[in-house]
Amino acid sequence: MALPALPKVELRELGNTGLKLSCVGFGASPLGNVFGPVSDDEAIGSVREAFRRGINFFDTSPYYGGTLSEKVLGKTLKALGVPRSEYIVATKCGRYADGFDFSADRVTKSIDESLERLQLDYVDILQCHDIEFGSLDQIINETIPALKKLKEAGKIRFIGITGLPLGIFTYVLDRVPPGTVDVVLSYCHYGINDSALEDLLPYLKSKGVGVISASPLAMGLLTEGGPPEWHPASAELKSACRAAAVYCKERGKNISKLAMQYSLSNKDISSVLVGMNSIKQVEENVAAAVELETVGKDEKTLAEVEAILKPVKNQTWSSGIQQS
Ligand code: NAD
Repeated sequence: MALPALPKVELRELGNTGLKLSCVGFGASPLGNVFGPVSDDEAIGSVREAFRRGINFFDTSPYYGGTLSEKVLGKTLKALGVPRSEYIVATKCGRYADGFDFSADRVTKSIDESLERLQLDYVDILQCHDIEFGSLDQIINETIPALKKLKEAGKIRFIGITGLPLGIFTYVLDRVPPGTVDVVLSYCHYGINDSALEDLLPYLKSKGVGVISASPLAMGLLTEGGPPEWHPASAELKSACRAAAVYCKERGKNISKLAMQYSLSNKDISSVLVGMNSIKQVEENVAAAVELETVGKDEKTLAEVEAILKPVKNQTWSSGIQQS
């Protein structure tokens, strides 16, 4: 007898790209041991489980784990043998273990290195990584034109930009021809403690730019285990999130599930990128998405957690050489 089909996450259109991304995206920074060591078995197991549950979008960078994330993701995709047309891979350029370099030369070499590590002929999206650390005018006048050439050469399908301060996105998008930047990846700005990205969504939609929102768990702040030691949040923000996690746990609720459902609720966000390194995390995050579609959010607990986090709502941290 055939086993019942596993519930799968929904697909959402990514701006004007024509790509359909799983609403839960697989953040592969943990595969670079960024949140602690991950074995090959755990990496393969979690990516296999992701495919089984309908996740088709994987995001990495040469920066994560000093190229380790790209290598592990490439090895894992190859081992699983999934047809290339069935998944979407995004990587990045301009940020490396030894610093930032958004020059045309460096990003042009960088994609070849990434493709080799990923064992792929092309990536779907190449994103300029954390552009607030570079000159935004260089991004506009040099980096993006270099990425356009990579697009013409067939090494990448779409161009993206990523970073923390939201003003960087409008700065660039206001200055490039329409259709040049296909995707924006924002992080830590659409979660229970910080939802500042919401104000920017109508603008991005009007430009036809696809929106990926990363770090729904605020890079570990909204987990029972708490954030890694390097987390840049203030002591006040960490303490408020810890109080919210404890509050949920004491009531038999899971803060991470609540956080995933909060981020997934806005359908103008194509994919919520969550970092995962175990089968259990994939199962939990997919279950949160499926439950949101079928049952809805736990509005009562969410309101209680929002009240705990109200004093730190939209509190962020500085990032980069400019805050625009
Ligand atoms: P996140 O908010 O997704 O948190 C990840 C942490 O939560 C990891 O420790 C993970 O093991 C844990 N986790 C995942 N699911 C869980 C669950 N169900 N229960 C408890 N813990 C769980 O932060 P992130 O990994 O930094 O962000 C997600 C992805 O987004 C990254 O992997 C990366 O691909 C991308 N990202 C990009 C940028 C950028 O371009 N500048 C910045 C941040 C994140």
